[in-house]
Amino acid sequence: MTSETKDICAAQCQAQCCQNKFVMLTQEEGERLSPLSPKIVKGTNQEYMMMFLRSQCDFLSEEYTCTIYASRPAGCAAFPYKPMAYCLLWPEKELV
Ligand code: SF4
Ligand code: SF4
Repeated sequence: MTSETKDICAAQCQAQCCQNKFVMLTQEEGERLSPLSPKIVKGTNQEYMMMFLRSQCDFLSEEYTCTIYASRPAGCAAFPYKPMAYCLLWPEKELV
């Protein structure tokens, strides 16, 4: 994701990928980030995940930007995972 596409996510999409979803985390990400957010929990297999199914990620700013962008989870860097009708970047992603 370039700074230009990041701006599209924030300004035009209000970062829908960072709201009403969950993100799987690596062990390292979970250990590093769980002290910072109560929405980071362990699943039945003890895997870490960020759960914000009816809310938004605790690291999302009021301007819809990621406050930990440089060190965000790998799962976030891969957004979006699948075509979503409202995504303004998916066609571009398909061309990458
Ligand atoms: S960590 Fe950043 S990119 Fe990932 S869901 Fe939260 S605000 Fe969005
Ligand atoms: S749905 Fe698309 S445009 Fe919206 S935040 Fe996710 S990647 Fe960005």
